[in-house]
Amino acid sequence: MTSDVTPGVTTESPEGGELPPTYNAADIASTWYPRWTEHGVFTASAARAATREPFVIVMPPPNVTAVLHVGHGLNNTVQDVLVRWRRMAGDEALWLPGTDHAGIATQNVVEKQLTAEGLTRFDIGREAFVERVAGFVEQTGGEILNQLKAIGSSADWTRTAYTFSPELSRAVREAFVRLHEDGLVYKGHRVIHWCPRCGTSLSDEEAEFTDTSGKLYHLRYTLASDPTQSVTVATTRPETMLGDTAVAVHPSDERYSAFIGQDVILPLTGVRIPVIADEYTDPAFGSGAVKITPAHDANDFEVGKRHSLAMPVVIDADGIVREVEDAAGRVPTPLAGLDRFAARKAIVAMLEAEGALVRIEPHQHSVRHCYRCDTVVEPRLSDQWFVKMQPLAAKALDALRSGQLRILPERWEAVYVNWLEGIRDWNISRQIWWGHRVPVWYCVTGEHTPIVSRADVTACPVCGSAVKQDEDVLDTWFSSWLWPFSTLGWPDRDAPDLKAFYPGDVLVTAPEILFFWVSRMVMSGCWFLDQPPFHTVYLHGTVRDMQHRKMSKSLGNGIDPLDVVKLYGADALRWTMVAGLGLGVDVMLDPNDLDSSFAPGRNFCTKLWNISRFLLTRVGTDPVMPVRAISADAMTPSDAWILGRLDAAIADCDAALGPARPANGRTWTEAEHIRGLRLSEYAEASRRFVWNELADWYLESAKPRLAGSGTDREVARAVLAHAFDGALRLLQPIVPFITETLWQRLPQTIEGAFLSQAPWPVQRATRVGDSGAFELTREAVQAIRQIRSEYNVKPSAFVDVTIVTRGDAAVQFASQLDTIGAMSRSRVTLSDIGPVGIAAHALLSGGSELVIPLADIVDIGRERERLTAEIDGLEKPLAALDGRLANEKFTAKAPPELVQAERAKAAEWRARLASLKAKRTALGA
Ligand SMILES: [Zn+2]
Ligand SMILES: [Zn+2]
Repeated sequence: MTSDVTPGVTTESPEGGELPPTYNAADIASTWYPRWTEHGVFTASAARAATREPFVIVMPPPNVTAVLHVGHGLNNTVQDVLVRWRRMAGDEALWLPGTDHAGIATQNVVEKQLTAEGLTRFDIGREAFVERVAGFVEQTGGEILNQLKAIGSSADWTRTAYTFSPELSRAVREAFVRLHEDGLVYKGHRVIHWCPRCGTSLSDEEAEFTDTSGKLYHLRYTLASDPTQSVTVATTRPETMLGDTAVAVHPSDERYSAFIGQDVILPLTGVRIPVIADEYTDPAFGSGAVKITPAHDANDFEVGKRHSLAMPVVIDADGIVREVEDAAGRVPTPLAGLDRFAARKAIVAMLEAEGALVRIEPHQHSVRHCYRCDTVVEPRLSDQWFVKMQPLAAKALDALRSGQLRILPERWEAVYVNWLEGIRDWNISRQIWWGHRVPVWYCVTGEHTPIVSRADVTACPVCGSAVKQDEDVLDTWFSSWLWPFSTLGWPDRDAPDLKAFYPGDVLVTAPEILFFWVSRMVMSGCWFLDQPPFHTVYLHGTVRDMQHRKMSKSLGNGIDPLDVVKLYGADALRWTMVAGLGLGVDVMLDPNDLDSSFAPGRNFCTKLWNISRFLLTRVGTDPVMPVRAISADAMTPSDAWILGRLDAAIADCDAALGPARPANGRTWTEAEHIRGLRLSEYAEASRRFVWNELADWYLESAKPRLAGSGTDREVARAVLAHAFDGALRLLQPIVPFITETLWQRLPQTIEGAFLSQAPWPVQRATRVGDSGAFELTREAVQAIRQIRSEYNVKPSAFVDVTIVTRGDAAVQFASQLDTIGAMSRSRVTLSDIGPVGIAAHALLSGGSELVIPLADIVDIGRERERLTAEIDGLEKPLAALDGRLANEKFTAKAPPELVQAERAKAAEWRARLASLKAKRTALGA
């Protein structure tokens, strides 16, 4: 992409000279994007927002190391369409871009590099490691933003943000400290999800469930007082038995009432553990007795707390079985140092040898995996920082229930409510190095309260001793949940951007991050700024392959949007996605056949180019008069008709896209709640206008006038230029490059202006002229074309047509006879009575009838023979088909789809036969 193009300087500029005969998407894109950015077309102004409606979308920040995939392509195209639409509609439109430092993900990338060098992060130390990641990010990070430019994204690059910048880091600290002051941040000692590979704790959302075929191991623990008696417990993770400190039964379970209070012997270790009664146990599940491992299971931890049980840790942070804390004597020598999965095998063998293994059965269950590296998550007892979520969730629920927030498609609102109602506290500390350090300092004496601070702390405020900052960093989502306002200058309440652009409008994303990100942004916005950060969440579908699988690197079924841009242009990519994007519907593309996958966009652009060449040649370069200056008398019915169709197209596009915001300030009414954001309907409405109405009818009908001279030619030029201008404005948000190129060649375009910031079209306040006669013209032309095709009339042949009129229609038709004739290669006359003889007839609106004497266009005798032959040829197979369908053996045995298809075929043949017979009758048979 070149950036050294200045308007008016290059001789190859696209607005000069003839439109090239062939559509070349690459040339167009490289010309316009740099010009738009140089002229600040995408730059929003806080000052201007004081006098205009702001319209704000914050871009979901891609991971700083991410490479553009087709999902980003879809997500950003949708946002771009909305922003371009509102920019033209006169809003102060801000699309705020940026990247996420992506804690674990980025750390993993650099750790992999280290592994290749035979090193670990511990070998080089924290400081050097963080420096290395920062350097890596500086060199390679953010490349994805350049890729977004290649698909035409009109983001305000002057405001590009980064979750780890000094400004945004300040916001992160402010949020942590303020939540701590509000009593919502606390340090908790509990069982959390732990990824042994990443070496960190994870939130509930980061530990994703995967359905797994595992095994259920039934183990026998004998009673200490009577070795002939035992209880059986079941587990999917037998290695955790080393950390068992009790067996629990339900208090009302009579099978075990004699056991409660007694000890059982833990196999392999010989340790005595008690049988306890706890309501948590489900008597109907398995044997009704469960082993309790407080340090390695979240539920067992709660039981352990209730019964003051010991909580020995027997699996360490690396997933290795060993005695960690007070687990003395619990880990038999051969097991110590084994990885948890190796230990599982060894333990099962040892239990079997000891006679403690009752049985093993296959077991389907959900196992949590790390969302960054897919390692099986290990529940582990540790100290972590948490956010108390219930008060935050209450506000986020209020925002939805009060109508300040809506989610489209609406079905997601229930999912959102469910999650918020059942919310658990959020573990926000991570034991990695890449991220915002927890802003808490500890006095080295250990005597004084930890200091939670906005500013760095260098000495203990109580005793002046040295302090040490908390080693942990914050969950990466703890910075991205502030994104809608940290990017606008918060916590500075007077920041101009914050005042001008908060709260924003629409958040566009995929449903996968509804919990991770979207709900949390609503919570933080409501908590810190008393308003949700947007009024609409638009969750679009996912891009899938033809087998309906999500596209992914590991499946090798991805599509690189840049490949598509290179092959067919950004506009073709964008059109294909938007036109195929029903609300909440997945987009299906074939990675093995880009040609047909992107055919809708490719064909659209090529056809738009071709009709535009023809159209622009006819319009010419001389100035055109404004359409409002055309008097009703000078306007033909076709002029009135196309201007009316443009009004209708504008109305359809507006209805499909809008409303842009709630009509009454910031609360959606019931009626508005599910309206708008129907992008495929908007694409179709604009396509229909330019194609089926402007090109197929108006341009076609105006050809003779455009080739003529005088006022009539000037009127036709003006109407054509105006209607095409309207079409290009409607299409610009979807296909910005090609429309900009074409628009620049219209005679009424002001030099130096860009379509990308031209006003969105509005409907005329008053309609001028009568379009009714042109509707009749279209009907007549369609009827004649239909008859011509039915009787195989040669395209070059003229036909004589009589229109038998009733009432006023004669007046309307009278002015249109030449137009009808020119568009259907016919000579049309009006009459009170139809011609005698054999003829084809068509009824028109208002009771008029169109008649074509058949003797003129076909040899009646031969046509009759042809029809008879065709009728005979159809009757026999139809009878056979009917016979087969009447046969119960066939209908019962054949696949239902086949029977249905055969029935449909029979119905089609019968209809065809009836039509042929009617035609033969009309020929006098
Ligand atoms: Zn991991
Ligand atoms: Zn101190």
